[in-house]
Amino acid sequence: MDKKLLDILDASGIEYLENAPLSELTTFRTGGKAALVVYPKDEAQTAMLIGLFGKELTVLGNGSNVLASDCGYDGVILTLQKYMTSVHIEGNIVMADAGIRLSKLVLETINSGLSGLEFAAGIPGTLGGGIYMNAGAYDGTLSEFISSVRAMDKNGYIHTIPAEDCAFDYRHSIFMERDLIILGCTFILRKGDRASSVAKVNDLNQRRKSKQPLEYPSAGSTFKRPSGHYAGALIEASGLKGCTIGGAQVSEKHAGFIINKGDATSKDVYELIEHVRKKVLEDSGVELEPEVRFLGRFDTEDNR
Ligand SMILES: Cc1cc2nc3c(=O)[nH]c(=O)nc-3n(C[C@H](O)[C@H](O)[C@H](O)COP(=O)(O)OP(=O)(O)OC[C@H]3O[C@@H](n4cnc5c(N)ncnc54)[C@H](O)[C@@H]3O)c2cc1C
Repeated sequence: MDKKLLDILDASGIEYLENAPLSELTTFRTGGKAALVVYPKDEAQTAMLIGLFGKELTVLGNGSNVLASDCGYDGVILTLQKYMTSVHIEGNIVMADAGIRLSKLVLETINSGLSGLEFAAGIPGTLGGGIYMNAGAYDGTLSEFISSVRAMDKNGYIHTIPAEDCAFDYRHSIFMERDLIILGCTFILRKGDRASSVAKVNDLNQRRKSKQPLEYPSAGSTFKRPSGHYAGALIEASGLKGCTIGGAQVSEKHAGFIINKGDATSKDVYELIEHVRKKVLEDSGVELEPEVRFLGRFDTEDNR
């Protein structure tokens, strides 16, 4: 990394890490190194980083939906999850920073006597990643409760985007098409009862634990749910439960999850994803679309 740029970061008090292992920044626990990771403390530092690195910047939340290339990532990773994590609640209005973990956000809303976000307590990501993915579980999705999203463009300008302009759909948002850094959002929740919200969270977490291979690194559901089908059921029908490439395996517990059995590379995971897609397409005619996002190069000989 250019020494002059690092000197500017030092002079501005912006925290950073060079040659950061992506295996520690993603829940698959695979991947090479990121040239630089930056941890802005506020919006002013975020704008400054955009000015310094522009298009080279990629945002990462908790890395719970990302497969990072074994070749690493040459650009700069910006993460809000270290400092930009505050939440402010007034009545039933909740304003939260994108770096906050969903589990923590849900707890804060429940402790304030609000209900609505309980479904998200077990999703192991940040609010920013959740908005980007329009994360959801057990019949709930974040977009149902969002009234607006704050995001910074690549000129450093902040926009407040009403939910109806965010193109929210199943695991889709406008942020997949526009180069914006999500800074946070405003939710409108309803008055709730703390005890019943806690009971709901505990019940959903128990259901997750019994059905999902949480004991292994993964990125949750590997594929989006195809219209009219369940990805896991199609994968199982193709006889792929337990199918293994290197250290990557189609989970025996839940075929919708590809897991890292311990020593998987991202190449193993990528090849298994491609193998599953090909076989399911042959057997059922359904094209599975990965829900997982890819960071870095997956199209080279080294990575095939
Ligand atoms: C065990 C397990 C269970 C899971 N269960 C669920 C589930 O029930 N439902 C569900 O929907 N998902 C689930 N997931 C997937 C994942 O947790 C969600 O997609 C989550 O919302 C991703 O958040 P993140 O902060 O980890 O984002 P990341 O994985 O870090 O990033 C995901 C994408 O969002 C972008 N992004 C992240 N933050 C920002 C930002 N501030 N501004 C702009 N872009 C940003 C990234 O560039 C990337 O493209 C699960 C994952 C695991 C490992």
